[in-house]
Amino acid sequence: MKKIYIFALLFSLFIFTIVIIASIEKDTSNSFWREIGSWFKRKTRIKKQIDLSNNNGKKISPKLKNMEAAKKQKLHPVKCKKCVYMIVILDDAGLLKKTYGLLKYKRPLNFSILPGQFFTTFWKRKINKRRIHEIMIHIPMAAYDYPKSGIRPGMNADYIRKYLKKLTEKFPEAKGANNHQGSLATSNHFLMKKFFKVYKNTGLYFVDSITSNRTAAYYYAKKNNVKALRRNYFIDNRKSTSYIYRQLKIAVKYAKRKGHVVVIGHTTSRNLIKALHAMEKIFVKYKVRFITVSNFLKLQKKEKN
Ligand SMILES: [Zn+2]
Repeated sequence: MKKIYIFALLFSLFIFTIVIIASIEKDTSNSFWREIGSWFKRKTRIKKQIDLSNNNGKKISPKLKNMEAAKKQKLHPVKCKKCVYMIVILDDAGLLKKTYGLLKYKRPLNFSILPGQFFTTFWKRKINKRRIHEIMIHIPMAAYDYPKSGIRPGMNADYIRKYLKKLTEKFPEAKGANNHQGSLATSNHFLMKKFFKVYKNTGLYFVDSITSNRTAAYYYAKKNNVKALRRNYFIDNRKSTSYIYRQLKIAVKYAKRKGHVVVIGHTTSRNLIKALHAMEKIFVKYKVRFITVSNFLKLQKKEKN
């Protein structure tokens, strides 16, 4: 009997202490009970999801259903007849740690990451987490201002092979690449001929950023059966929101005529996300569908067959 009394006494002491702690201060008590409430909610939510996913796929929670649909769409993109396609490539990822909200954008973007930068791995990890976006390699190429950087005239095929091998090993998740700078390299026919003979073995697609109006990159990519695209507009040559907005509007008009448009911006543009959000109504009105480069190339291939 005594044991029961001691137990009851201890139990009521425990309850009493909790009530005292919780009501010492109003704010504290609120957060205390809120914490307990959210812990309970979390537990039941996880249990529900496990129950649903174990149900032989008969009953799937809406969240899981959306994830499944997104995965399916990513692997087998479906052609939308009334849509126009917008391919947005964001260059120079890796230079800054700041992401300016671009990673959280709800539509698929293509992030082109510069190798060997301080934040290269940071961006790779972040983009891998946000599964809707695509990772590209931003291959440094020699410019008239920087004739000694990246792929440059005078390199032999063996050196190019080793250079590309290193890059593809560092970016196993990348499906393609575009050139960083490269006004000098891409306008050199001899170099481009050599480069794409090696590049075709990587299996990656190539987007010519067109940093020189004499570029031969796209021509030699196609000649070597590399899946390739060309950039149509740079959208953030000036950094103001209104300028980027105007460029995006021009790009949508172009896509309306041609069916698709390839635009290049930069991850270093702090106003780009604002311009994208400001364009929302126009994107909806003209049925602009954002797409990753690899998915767009898959659709093109489907159409040809
Ligand atoms: Zn660049």
